[in-house]
Amino acid sequence: MIDFHVHLDLYPNSEAVVNEVIKRRIHTLSVTTTPSAWEGTSKIATSNAYIKTALGLHPQLAHERFSELALFDTYLPDTMYVGEIGLDGGLEFKNYWQIQTMVFDHILAACQINGGRIMSIHSRRAVSRVLDSLDKFQYAGVPVLHWFAGSKRELSRAIDLGCWFSINSAMLISERSRSLIQEIPRSKILTETDGPFAKINGSSAKPWDVTLAVEYIAKLWSDISPEEVSYVLSSNLKSLNSSITL
Ligand code: MN
Repeated sequence: MIDFHVHLDLYPNSEAVVNEVIKRRIHTLSVTTTPSAWEGTSKIATSNAYIKTALGLHPQLAHERFSELALFDTYLPDTMYVGEIGLDGGLEFKNYWQIQTMVFDHILAACQINGGRIMSIHSRRAVSRVLDSLDKFQYAGVPVLHWFAGSKRELSRAIDLGCWFSINSAMLISERSRSLIQEIPRSKILTETDGPFAKINGSSAKPWDVTLAVEYIAKLWSDISPEEVSYVLSSNLKSLNSSITL
């Protein structure tokens, strides 16, 4: 199982969730929302091979935390993974657009200078602008678009720019997203939950809920069983992880 975008540090019962992740051997990308959270959150992952911690500065917090960019630059050499980063074009965050783009471009430039990172990227109502920045910083590393909800045209541009996609079960329920996912090369797909923010049947999604996404992907790909989907996803993860070295 793979959960390539989850906020492990934000569950009220974080420790229990982490123990379960290790017990079930779920390959997890533990994303953070502020550089100041990185040190504590990365401690969760010490001494196990399943949890990788990503250094992030969430676009919805950019206006409050941009002063932590110096801290971001300090920690960046210590990790191969960056996220959650990106842009949010939603009405509530539009006022901070300038600061968001400054923060995002700073991070991409830093990743580029440091030889590239694997990046989990938020692009809600901002796909085109996210892609413009990725185009500008082509050596920033490998972008993994989390919860992609753009148009077909944006999707094909993202694919051309070398983007990967982490897919959750909510996306697979929407007819519109399903037809987008059909267009993504199978070799560029991973699963995610975005827990605890994302809900499944009213409660916070847990990393092991990715089984639901795997089942839905198997239905979508139709000629292949959930076991075979899992096999494809784990070979995808191996190839992603080997694409960048520190
Ligand atoms: Mn998230």
